[in-house]
Amino acid sequence: MNEKSILVVEDEPSIAEVVGLYLSRAGFQVQTAKDGRQARSMLEKKIPDLVVMDIMLPEIDGLTLTRWLRDNSNVPIIMVTARREEIDRIAGLEMGADDYVVKPFSPQELVSRVRAVLRRVGRDQVEAESERALSFSTITIDPRTRVVTVKESQIELTAKEFDMLYLLARYPKQVFTRDQLLERVWGRADYIDPGTVTVHVRRLREKIESNASAPKYIITVWGVGYKFES
Ligand code: CA
Repeated sequence: MNEKSILVVEDEPSIAEVVGLYLSRAGFQVQTAKDGRQARSMLEKKIPDLVVMDIMLPEIDGLTLTRWLRDNSNVPIIMVTARREEIDRIAGLEMGADDYVVKPFSPQELVSRVRAVLRRVGRDQVEAESERALSFSTITIDPRTRVVTVKESQIELTAKEFDMLYLLARYPKQVFTRDQLLERVWGRADYIDPGTVTVHVRRLREKIESNASAPKYIITVWGVGYKFES
């Protein structure tokens, strides 16, 4: 059987051990890193199928590492955060983590989250592979390579910015509410501030519109949400 590989980045040995145990028992191939530097050198050699990332880490912290990882890969990331570190959590999700668990968590819950994220990513890949590139007057969006060009030059989007743009552009003129976008792009609508959508829309506009304050592609539908105009 083709086992999925998981890198657990965790500096507390007892947590690393129990998490590793549960994940291996669930059929995953587990490696652990005890600090950010070790994690980065492991990730430079091989990107696993999923990363479980503690935020508070010696050497390089989990948020910095997540940002670095996002620049280099689309690997799904589950963040591990201490209770009440609301800001870390949101920052982690903004940086492209796929889900999070709060300490103390049950290892079984983490295993379920890992499975859910891997299922979602697998489904998205199948969907993406069956999709053709979208092309509009000045923009092209290719879901297979995740490359977006504006006036023929390639632009850099975060994973979530890409997902949101692709979703909107796949269904031109269809209005998506903020909750729908959270649900479809972040996977869960209940745990994240709807303001996140606004922030992502603003950044996307800055990257793809000729004039971000008079957008021609991503249009605000007041009191409802957003739509893509081709
Ligand atoms: Ca820690």
